[in-house]
Amino acid sequence: MSILAAYAVPHPPLILPAIGVGKESEIAETIRAYRAVMQTAAAFRPDTVVVVSPHATSYGDYFHISPGAGAEGNFRAFGHPEITVAIAYDEDFVRTLSACAGARGIAAGTLGEKNGALDHGTMVPLVFLSEYLGDAPTKFVRIGISGLPAAAHAALGQCIAETAKRFGRRTLCIASGDLSHRLKKDAPNGFTPEGAEFDGLCRAFMGAGDFLSLLQIPGDFAERAGHCGLNGLWVLAGVLDRTAMEARLHSYEGPFGVGYAVASFTVTGADENHNFTERLAAAEDAAIAQLRAAEDDYVRIARTSIETYVRSHSYAVLPDNLPPELTETQAGVFVSVKKYGKLRGCIGTFAPRQGNIAEEILYNAVSAAAHDGRFDPVAEDELGRLVYTVDVLTPPEPISSAAELDPKIYGVIVKSMTDNRLGLLLPDLPGIDTAERQIEVARGKASILPKEKVSLSRFKVVRHR
Ligand SMILES: [Zn+2]
Repeated sequence: MSILAAYAVPHPPLILPAIGVGKESEIAETIRAYRAVMQTAAAFRPDTVVVVSPHATSYGDYFHISPGAGAEGNFRAFGHPEITVAIAYDEDFVRTLSACAGARGIAAGTLGEKNGALDHGTMVPLVFLSEYLGDAPTKFVRIGISGLPAAAHAALGQCIAETAKRFGRRTLCIASGDLSHRLKKDAPNGFTPEGAEFDGLCRAFMGAGDFLSLLQIPGDFAERAGHCGLNGLWVLAGVLDRTAMEARLHSYEGPFGVGYAVASFTVTGADENHNFTERLAAAEDAAIAQLRAAEDDYVRIARTSIETYVRSHSYAVLPDNLPPELTETQAGVFVSVKKYGKLRGCIGTFAPRQGNIAEEILYNAVSAAAHDGRFDPVAEDELGRLVYTVDVLTPPEPISSAAELDPKIYGVIVKSMTDNRLGLLLPDLPGIDTAERQIEVARGKASILPKEKVSLSRFKVVRHR
């Protein structure tokens, strides 16, 4: 016996009547569903319940598992210190889970706890569950999410399932999380139409037990929708990998502009077709292969330059048959490297430093991968997931004000009048919608204070991807 079932539940503290003081009646469906699934969960008489919470200690590149014999928490932050939750941790499970993660090369463990007290993401589900567990000797494991990609969350989920199997413990996994926080004008994080779109996808995929599609929701889209629950669902994808399950979406509501979904996934056996993690990797491989097959000479030089440098610490040799536009022209070039949609390095020159564009790309690519101070140097095992962009710049032209900018078309160079500090921002970047914002970010890159006098230049780019 190992994983018996998994659950996805929300964690609004106002769902508790003492905190909601009547407001909770607006999510009566959620409460009804919450009670129903937690009653079923308790009926499994679980030995171990693993809770994944986005509000436990979390790191960008590491999964934190709570250490020690147990922990307590209360709702003081929500005005109710008298509502407390106390749990015992399953220390054997934690130890074996950490070892399993280590063996698979997943960065996870009990180091670096920021706050030992239980978070509301962990406590809200446990308030409901404890009502039905009574004084059963159930132990818990608490895990924080990370900034790592979907595949890493799913791999951690596979370790949870493996650990549960090794101990033969009756194990449940709860992914605590809310969906979009941007469903309405007065929502906590403001409105975006992508909020409802995101929630619609999550509801459909949860109801169908389609964890492959949940793993493939683009991270930047989910971020714009303002969720806190998707990473937990990614962990469930690994927990439920290769299982046959009965998936059910019990309820969905969002009267306060935040999406609350209650779903259960009851394991009924094994199903080799539910190899979510393997299929995710295959889909990612295929997407990268398609990109590589379509890349032009500019991007190919950047990629081979980085791959050669990372593997052998030497510069690649440029091919002989390059077109004259690359070998007989000079220009400033920026090379950007992304991984899973997130920037992984970006370095460039706004005026040419090398003999031609091909060499400019060759050298700037190495700088982007190995010398961008914001990131660790690219490692060899990352190469298969990297996506490259090469921007070739037109010579910058001085402008007198922001009115001559358009962040979709022009990049900007901001130069301090006092000491020539210089900040540059490329055009057409996500989240940079106004000239003012563009200048502000460019100033920030060069640590130029808002009141310092600056001169402005603009440039265009030809973007190769
Ligand atoms: Zn949350």
